[in-house]
Amino acid sequence: MRNLNRLTAQAMVDAFSSGKMTSVQATEAALDRIAQVDGAVHAFLHVDAEGALEAAEAVDKDRAAGKSLPLLAGVPVAVKDVLVTKGLPTTAGSRILEGWMPPYDATVVERLKAARMPIIGKTNMDEFAMGSSTEHSGYGPTHNPWDLDRIPGGSGGGSAASLAAFEVPLAIGSDTGGSIRQPAAVTGTVGVKPTYGAVSRYGVIALASSLDQVGPCARTVHDAALLHEVIAGHDPRDATSLPEAVPPVVTAANRGRQDGLEGVRVGVIKELTGEGFQSGVRQRFEEAIHQLSSLGAKVTEVSCPSFAYALAAYYLILPSEASSNLAKYDSVRFGLRVDDGGTIERVMGATRAAGFGDEVKRRIILGTYALSAGYYDAYYGSAQKVRTLIQRDFGEAFGAVDVLVSPTCPTTAFRLGEQVDDPLTMYLNDIATIPANLAGIPGMSLPIGLAPEDGLPVGLQILAPARVDDRLYRVGAALEGALVDVWAGTLLTQAPPLEGVPV
Ligand code: GLN
Repeated sequence: MRNLNRLTAQAMVDAFSSGKMTSVQATEAALDRIAQVDGAVHAFLHVDAEGALEAAEAVDKDRAAGKSLPLLAGVPVAVKDVLVTKGLPTTAGSRILEGWMPPYDATVVERLKAARMPIIGKTNMDEFAMGSSTEHSGYGPTHNPWDLDRIPGGSGGGSAASLAAFEVPLAIGSDTGGSIRQPAAVTGTVGVKPTYGAVSRYGVIALASSLDQVGPCARTVHDAALLHEVIAGHDPRDATSLPEAVPPVVTAANRGRQDGLEGVRVGVIKELTGEGFQSGVRQRFEEAIHQLSSLGAKVTEVSCPSFAYALAAYYLILPSEASSNLAKYDSVRFGLRVDDGGTIERVMGATRAAGFGDEVKRRIILGTYALSAGYYDAYYGSAQKVRTLIQRDFGEAFGAVDVLVSPTCPTTAFRLGEQVDDPLTMYLNDIATIPANLAGIPGMSLPIGLAPEDGLPVGLQILAPARVDDRLYRVGAALEGALVDVWAGTLLTQAPPLEGVPV
């Protein structure tokens, strides 16, 4: 078979079972592609060629012996460096964890291994998942495969870029305020933040524990659904893990693709479509709304007035929780230690000064201030009240419609360097994604075309009530099906091939 890198996960599964391809071939193709383009893209912080090939060989051997295997057995996957991997370096994009080797696997990583998926490597990210561009990585930025001078989104830019550069067919991300959905939008890929608690956080390096959620990244909605079913489900090691069965997301995706959206009520979020959104983003979004209507959906406008406060509340809650979660990087327990021969306090101070980047320090200072006695009620307490208001807005909206939609982010991929020194502008990228994290509901971003003014991908966000993640997949797969007909392939077939990029 030719062009193995361009196959979807489902196509690989089919090729394995018909004997047209082996897992070793799929894994080698991924590793070759990484060798060819990752010098320019920098999606990976660590590539585990040996481990991946070993896993692939074992799968091929079992397949040849006629053993029954899990569906995605042999399909290569990349993992965001925020999940701990036994025996593989894990840094969360921070210099403070450089050289640290986790002694255990995150539950999600265990599940990938149980599904017999070769883990190709760990993907780049903004330090401790703080950012929207991967420029805050302690190891240098990732570049957007559509235009190497542009950002691939963040914090999970590495996972998204690894898909858009055709290095791997599937990847894992984490989303605290949009870090799966926004990178998906600006790279023309699909990313899903499941319901809070639907995927285990055990072994996920915490940013803000009440917001963090791990989810699937892929090039198609159906592929995302396949990966979703592998990683989701109850985990007794995570106290916030939901007890119920995983919603039938693969069936939902198939149903959306086949049957359209007759009778599905779609609400367009009024507050997330107007001012501040790039004209090409708005144009593609409006066209997608028409597609949803032609698929049979009933589209109405819905107002969520408290969303005006979402960004402000998030940027108090997140730093507060992060300042507490990051206190454990103390030079004693993990990673870096800068020993200047002084007291333990001085060693800690010197280690944190050297190991953390500017954005992390900014948020630790902000969070510590917001949580301090005397300010707690004014800041953290008020932000929590806003959270309740946002949940109420969603509650009311979902009384009237089945799913909500908006553009995933206000603009297409911006240029590297353009926003990195301007935190407030960077934070505004999250305006449409943050409400879902504050309410714990699931969200998906899928590509809906290229903005006419710059030829870069635009993403549409779908939101559903908590625990009905399957609805995202039904609507997403239906829309994707209609658009793939328009484009005669996925949006990525229009991406620049990257062949011959200077590495
Ligand atoms: N851009 C958001 C932030 O910087 C996204 C964080 C995330 O989802 N990990 O906080």
